[in-house]
Formats: sequence, structure tokens, C-alpha cells
Amino acid sequence: MRHLVWFRTDLRVADNPALYEAAADDAEVEAVYVDCPGQWQEHGKSAMQRDFLSRNLQALNEQLAGLGIPLTVLTADTFSETPDLLVRWLEGRHFDALYANREIGIDERRRDKELQRRLSIPCRVYNGDCVLDHGSLTTRSGDMYKVFTPFSKTWLAKLRAGGYRLLPVPAAQAEALSSEPLSLSGERVSSDDWPAGEADAAQRLSQFCQRSLREYGERRDYPAQDGTSSLSPYLALGVLSPNQCLSAMESELGQLPFSRGEPGFVWLNELIWREFYRHLLVAFPRLSMDRAFRPETEALQWSRDDEGFRAWCEGHTGYPIVDAAMRCLNQTGWMHNRLRMIVASFLTKDLHIDWRRGERYFMSRLIDGELAANNGGWQWAAGTGADAAPYFRVFNPTTQGERFDAEGDFLRCWLPELAEVPARVIHSPHDWLDNHSPGHGYAKPIVDHGRARLHAIAMFDALKDRETV
Ligand SMILES: Cc1cc2nc3c(=O)[nH]c(=O)nc-3n(C[C@H](O)[C@H](O)[C@H](O)COP(=O)(O)OP(=O)(O)OC[C@H]3O[C@@H](n4cnc5c(N)ncnc54)[C@H](O)[C@@H]3O)c2cc1C
Repeated sequence: MRHLVWFRTDLRVADNPALYEAAADDAEVEAVYVDCPGQWQEHGKSAMQRDFLSRNLQALNEQLAGLGIPLTVLTADTFSETPDLLVRWLEGRHFDALYANREIGIDERRRDKELQRRLSIPCRVYNGDCVLDHGSLTTRSGDMYKVFTPFSKTWLAKLRAGGYRLLPVPAAQAEALSSEPLSLSGERVSSDDWPAGEADAAQRLSQFCQRSLREYGERRDYPAQDGTSSLSPYLALGVLSPNQCLSAMESELGQLPFSRGEPGFVWLNELIWREFYRHLLVAFPRLSMDRAFRPETEALQWSRDDEGFRAWCEGHTGYPIVDAAMRCLNQTGWMHNRLRMIVASFLTKDLHIDWRRGERYFMSRLIDGELAANNGGWQWAAGTGADAAPYFRVFNPTTQGERFDAEGDFLRCWLPELAEVPARVIHSPHDWLDNHSPGHGYAKPIVDHGRARLHAIAMFDALKDRETV
């Protein structure tokens, strides 16, 4: 038997269901990857993530070569051209089946459906991106959960009852092959701060579990501390699987933390958030189409404040925590979760700018840009998403800064204008700057938070009035 594995967002050989199943029963395996530079642009993904993708593809190529599995990289401009390309490429190659792990965006699903319609060989698709498969968690009436807490309870119960399955790397099928260097075309920005490949991802995971997992709950909200795993770029491209995260956690703790309060539970909970957003994306395809989760919020009257949007993007809003976070994103391609929540709340609830503009900007910059989590995070912050108490949550950027970066350590890394400002006033530095450092160049606040908050709440109240008319 000859099997073809089509790699997509699962750039790993360990715990890869499609690869594992394809290699079962001593089948001969080859691999293919289809690069779609036009689609990358259409999805607005970042040049830094493209660089990271290219380097991880090269690392995968080396891993596969070590197993005697050749990898061919094809190029189709977009997903819609991919089925045709693959069908033509497969002609005369005599494979018995195609194996792949599922991708969940609507464009990806349409592409796969079209390919399956046209293929003359079986196409076997697996869940390689979630611990528990999409669609396997439903309410009593068989629907997908619309809020996180009941989803997470069912998720934990199901995991406790059924466990998870971690798949090994398949055995080498032949002598190691020599691998040619691979490199993707298109705009790229260096992602060298993030080492590529499964080995580095696994090392980062194990170091995080040994050093920080137990204190994650206490430390995860402080951006100046190294309290989170920074594994999101690897999880986003499938260089690492969520099962591998569970396994590392189990090795460190002796067992999985199933109950709130147990060491490590808070980190497990974040992995469940990841799964929640992915399950939502599958159950509600409109989320892939720029549509709000709560349809009634489509009527919100967002502002078209281009100047405000530019100030937000560039980190010149006059709110230090927002500005430091955005400058960090622009330079590194990564942002701490607490900061993502603060800047998303600021854009939507202080500047009243449509969450879709922020979502797109994030995607264009992030090294871990990933539709389900990005869309879920933005809609959560904007009050249009799957959330029990969404719209009156308006983060105060000043008190958030004071609480989570009390000494201003994170601010000082990114805002040279504030280098000399004492910690006690660094989150409201304007009076101090005017008195001690004339010509400092730091922006005045572009909005008054108190008034902006009331306006945001009024925008949502207006929706209720529409419903009752
Ligand atoms: C507005 C907004 C946009 C976001 N965009 C993205 C995105 O494009 N890609 C992305 O991977 N995450 C996104 N997140 C979620 C979260 O901020 C990042 O996953 C996290 O900051 C990554 O850091 P870490 O790897 O150290 O996470 P850890 O805290 O160590 O968590 C471990 C893993 O769990 C997952 N995770 C953690 N928190 C969340 C969450 N709230 N939602 C979904 N998954 C989560 C990630 O895969 C993460 O790597 C976004 C959050 C918000 C509020």
C-alpha cells in the first residue's frame, strides 16, 4: 500500500494522527505540503508567521527525511486552486489513499470538500488539533455550548472518563534520505527569536512545566514576568499538539489536574479555552466569515475613527499599558494574554472601533495568529462573542496597568519616553512629564476613559431598545 500524507497546520511527526495512521501496517508513505502564498495574503497573516512557517516546514522536512519519508512542496496561489493542483499531481502516482488532519476555517473546509469530491482515492481525515474532537461535546439537546463554563465542565468529565491518546512517531520506513533545504517565497520578517521545530517546542514545553506550571495561576497575568508558556506560535502551526501539552503536564504533576484549585488546573483551563474557540468555529461557520457570534450585535454603531485606529496600532494613545503592548506586538509579533484583553477592550470600548479591524491588525502582526483564538478573543473583548456577561465589562487601562505592572517594568521596556517616570505615577504620567520633562513627546490620552466607557455601554443599551421596539 502507498499512502500520501498531506501536511497542513500539523507540522510535526509526533502525535500526528494522519501520519501515524498512514504509516500503519507497513504502508509506504510519502508526504506533500501545498503552499498558498495568495491565500496567506487574503487571510491577512503576518510576514513573521510566514517566516516561522517556512522554518518549521524545513524542520519537518528533516524529520521526515530521517524516517525515509520524502516531502514534496507544491505551490498553488489560493485554496481554490489547490484541489485541481493536487488532482493533477496525483495522476500517475498510484497512491491508495490520502491522509490529512482536519483544518477548521471555512475556506479550508470548502477546499477539502472540493478535493474529496474530485479524488478517486479515499481521503481519510483525522482530528489532530484538539484533545477532544469537534462536535463530540454537546448540550443535552445536541447543540454546541454557547458559553465556556458548561463546555469546560463537560470537557473535563469526558477527558477524565476517556483519557486522551498520544501517538508515537512512526517507525522509519527506509534509510534516511538527504533533505534539500526548503524555503517559502513571499514577504517574511525574521522570527529567529523563536527556534523552529518539534524538538525546540518540546523542550520549551518541558521547561515551562518544570519551572512555571505550578505557579501559573498566580503569575500568568503579569506581563513583565515570564509566567506563561509562550507555546502559542507552536500550537498555532501544529508543531506541538495539545495532547503533548497534557502529557507533559501529567509527567510533571503525576496526574492531570481535573479540579479547580489543583496545581496546574489554570493552565489546563487555558487549553480548554483553546478547544472551546475551535469547537465554536466548526459549529458556527459565520465566525470564519467576519460575522459576530451574537447576530444582534451586528447593529452596533462602530466609530470610523481612522486617526484613533492609527494611534492604537502604533502605540500612541497616551495610555501607557496600551501603548507598550502595541509596540511590543509590532516589534516581536507576540503579546501577553492580559495585554491582548486590555488593548482589545480599549479599541472596541474606548475608541468604539469595530473589533474586526483589531482582529485583522492582530492577524497581520502575530506570530501565533490563529483564526479561532483570535476571533474568539476579539469577540469576547468586544462583547459580541460567546460570553455570559459581555458588554458591561470595560477594562480601565490605567487601573489594569497599575494592577498588573505595578512597578512599570513592562512599560519601561517599550516606552523610552517614560524611562525616568517614577513607578507611583507611571500609569498616569502626563502631569509628571509636563513638570519634569518638557518636550518628552509622549502622547496625551486620546480619549477620556470614563466618558468612553459610558458611551460603550450606551451603544449596547441601544441594541436592547431596538429589540423591544
Ligand atoms: C484579543 C485576543 C486575541 C488573541 N489572538 C490569539 C491568536 O491569534 N492566537 C493564539 O494562539 N491565541 C490568541 N489569543 C489567546 C491568548 O492570548 C494566547 O494564546 C496567549 O497569550 C499565548 O501565550 P502563551 O502561549 O504563553 O499561553 P499560555 O498562557 O501558556 O497558554 C497555553 C496555550 O493555551 C492556549 N490559550 C491560552 N489562552 C487562550 C485563550 N484565551 N484563548 C484561546 N487559546 C488560549 C494557547 O494555545 C496557549 O499557547 C488571543 C487573545 C485575545 C484576548
